[in-house]
Amino acid sequence: MDNFHCCPHYYNMGKALDKCFDCKYCYIKDFRHENMIYPDDTFLPVSVNMFYGDPMLQVDITVEILEGLEARGHKGKVVVMTKGDFSKMPDRKFNLDLWYIFSTFGIDHEMDGGSLKQFDENIKIAKERNLNCFIKFSPVLKGINDTSEAIDNVAKHKLPVSYMGMDTGKVPRAFERELKSKCKAHKTKNLLGVTKYEKP
Ligand code: SF4
Repeated sequence: MDNFHCCPHYYNMGKALDKCFDCKYCYIKDFRHENMIYPDDTFLPVSVNMFYGDPMLQVDITVEILEGLEARGHKGKVVVMTKGDFSKMPDRKFNLDLWYIFSTFGIDHEMDGGSLKQFDENIKIAKERNLNCFIKFSPVLKGINDTSEAIDNVAKHKLPVSYMGMDTGKVPRAFERELKSKCKAHKTKNLLGVTKYEKP
């Protein structure tokens, strides 16, 4: 059952590296999981390297897992979430229901290991490659990145957005209202809403 610790909605496959982006808010830093067991159920949603060891920091392992799922005829959704350098990902299609998730803090901040520049660049690449993708805006922290500036930085991409706060996943009401209205103004087709994750 270890596979479900980091993200209860997915069967998490991957390797934990010693270092990821070193985000100050990360609550899974001490989690180590080396198992690479493919799920028997080909309809299970699977996440690839979605914890401490960004998929782009270990892109060879990421591709290996995707190829393994492909070879097993996996039918369920497969997600690869990154704040790393997406240009490292080979420009090729996988015979999978594959979604890329671009994770962001919405602003450049000392608590976060990613950068807005990288986030913008990643989305540009994904759009050029015509890939299925959406944005994960998290964690939203009151008084830090629940601001109009952060919301604008996310909403401008016109992609579906999921978002969450810490622990309970809840976000400030005013934040949610503004994000929804700005996504609507940008004619974003689908706002995914709060994703509730739990601490391992
Ligand atoms: S990139 Fe993700 S897993 Fe890595 S330290 Fe930051 S929040 Fe944790």
